[in-house]
Amino acid sequence: MKNKITSLFSIDYPIIQAGMIWCSGWELAAAVSNAGGLGIIGSGSMYPEILEEQIIKCKQATYKPFAVNLPMLYPDIDKHVATIIKHKVPIVFTSAGNPKTWTSHLKEHGITVVHVVSSVKFALKAQEAGVDAIVAEGFEAGGHNGKDETTTFCLIPMVAKEVTIPIIAAGGIGTGAGILAALTLGADGVQIGSRFVPTHESSAHINFKNAVIASKEGDTLLTLKELTPVRLLKNEFFNKVQASYANGTSIEELTTLLGRGRAKKGMFEGDLIEGELEIGQVAGLFDKIQSAKEVMEELIQGYHAALKEKTTEKYNF
Ligand code: NDP
Repeated sequence: MKNKITSLFSIDYPIIQAGMIWCSGWELAAAVSNAGGLGIIGSGSMYPEILEEQIIKCKQATYKPFAVNLPMLYPDIDKHVATIIKHKVPIVFTSAGNPKTWTSHLKEHGITVVHVVSSVKFALKAQEAGVDAIVAEGFEAGGHNGKDETTTFCLIPMVAKEVTIPIIAAGGIGTGAGILAALTLGADGVQIGSRFVPTHESSAHINFKNAVIASKEGDTLLTLKELTPVRLLKNEFFNKVQASYANGTSIEELTTLLGRGRAKKGMFEGDLIEGELEIGQVAGLFDKIQSAKEVMEELIQGYHAALKEKTTEKYNF
């Protein structure tokens, strides 16, 4: 399949595995890239020396292109950028910040830059900053997200109407039919996170993987909008946040309640009670832990099955 996204990244399928803190290290990124998609190392939870080690390991595990996700909130971002340039990582996905800050610098070093946005306004800003493509991420997505609650179903056509650069849809996509829907709405590719969390290669704790596959519709909610909006799996920590809102909490109290390292505690250390468990709505569809290769194969088969169905009577009206 050759389209704008497969050509931009030199990959076989326009399927990108999202950069996810504590979940997407080199093993997952390399497995997805080896299966023909684009794997991404999530650098937000990695100290600079850890990122360097992860890039080296990823290069040893795949000769195919892979990317690094660079959240701009990251405290040692200069060091991460230097490591990315030193090791000639071909593609960077920036997120959670102003796309103007790093795009030119990265592009001067021959790096393809993609920026993650949650609205038309930010999509236009990213295009103006000179990025090569955008990820437009809807409300359904797991983890950190926009405040406006625009769903992927609404966001993609709205962004497609305004921008000319390639669009990668994210949020709520976890099946082949979902990929077809996203492309139909105007995207050129998809970014998938939640489906790759319960894979053997994901670095998430097994408790978190099991919680993800056990989750059902309605088990996640977008919260902490006053700090950084985040979609979480409901647990005891989540209930404390909700109780705090019910008591008319302040931003200071919320910050104290969140504390430091909650995401690591939940997703990496497997504390399902006190940890922050970041996952998307679509997790309610998954019921088993698979290899990343199996996930990729199912996504591609599902996409072609859904495409074939478009010729059936159901669509003929
Ligand atoms: P916290 O401030 O609660 O904790 C920081 C965590 O990041 C700790 O677990 C720490 O590991 C780890 N860490 C890795 N490198 C560093 C470093 N250089 N300095 C300090 N801590 C580091 O943050 P969160 O857990 O909520 O978020 C972690 C990261 O996720 C953020 O730094 C940010 O980069 C990223 N993020 C991404 C977003 C996005 O992409 N949209 C949005 C929000 C956050 P240890 O416990 O081993 O010290």
